[in-house]
Amino acid sequence: MRSEGNLSAWQTIEMVVTVKAYPAISNKYGESVCVAGVRTDGAAMELVRLFPVGFRDLAPGAQFKKYQRVKLRVKKGITDRRPETWHPDLGSLELGPIIDTAKGWRERWNLVSDLAGQYTTCEIRERAAKIGQNSTSLALIKPADVSGVTVTPNPDFDPATAAAAEAAAMPDLFQNEKQVLRAAPFRVQYDYRCEFRACNGHSQSLIDWEVGVAGLRWRDGKAGTVREQLKIKFYDEMCSSERDVHFFIGNQHQNPGSFMVIGVFWPPRNSRPESVLF
Ligand SMILES: [Zn+2]
Repeated sequence: MRSEGNLSAWQTIEMVVTVKAYPAISNKYGESVCVAGVRTDGAAMELVRLFPVGFRDLAPGAQFKKYQRVKLRVKKGITDRRPETWHPDLGSLELGPIIDTAKGWRERWNLVSDLAGQYTTCEIRERAAKIGQNSTSLALIKPADVSGVTVTPNPDFDPATAAAAEAAAMPDLFQNEKQVLRAAPFRVQYDYRCEFRACNGHSQSLIDWEVGVAGLRWRDGKAGTVREQLKIKFYDEMCSSERDVHFFIGNQHQNPGSFMVIGVFWPPRNSRPESVLF
């Protein structure tokens, strides 16, 4: 059974976290977060996903930020066969520096230049619907245009979900009590066309951690209602013509043909290193 042995062998990888989704509750994994990023220790940059990650169970010093370099042990999982997914050993996590943009976007672009626009949403959706879990399940796509965003109350934000969240957040012998997970109050959904020439358009939810946190923390006020403020942030600002917006998209492992926007990469327009030359 050599191949199975190889499949389950632990290895140490280095990556930069670029995606952190809002926590989700499942019967099997409890509370977990979809974390994805760019693996940096191979011959070429590649997108990887860590699952499951009980992010809020990590010690405060281990709760990595977006664009933080991390090193950890991973192995291939058994149930999630998507090629980019790794099962993490969170106890092995070592945190490195955060790649900020104080000196510009070049270092972040160095991570994603070869990945940005490598696939279109239409292409990988069609392939994943046909092939299933073995197909590409993560990509950084360049929308041809983002026509709008729809902000709607989240139907999961209801008492039934709150009860499930409360159960999942029950402290056990090894954990300190933590706050009950609340569902994100609003859903933010992008309408866009990808760069595939016959694209009929996509309508995909953005499941970024920040959408949930903003919905819970922001209040109606001078800047508008929370719904209006979410539109201003996630559409007017992130998708403005001053930004070279890209979407990290990923699928659901039980439903490979169904993709969501899991994070937004929104550097200033013309910041891509090659474009400086022209
Ligand atoms: Zn498309």
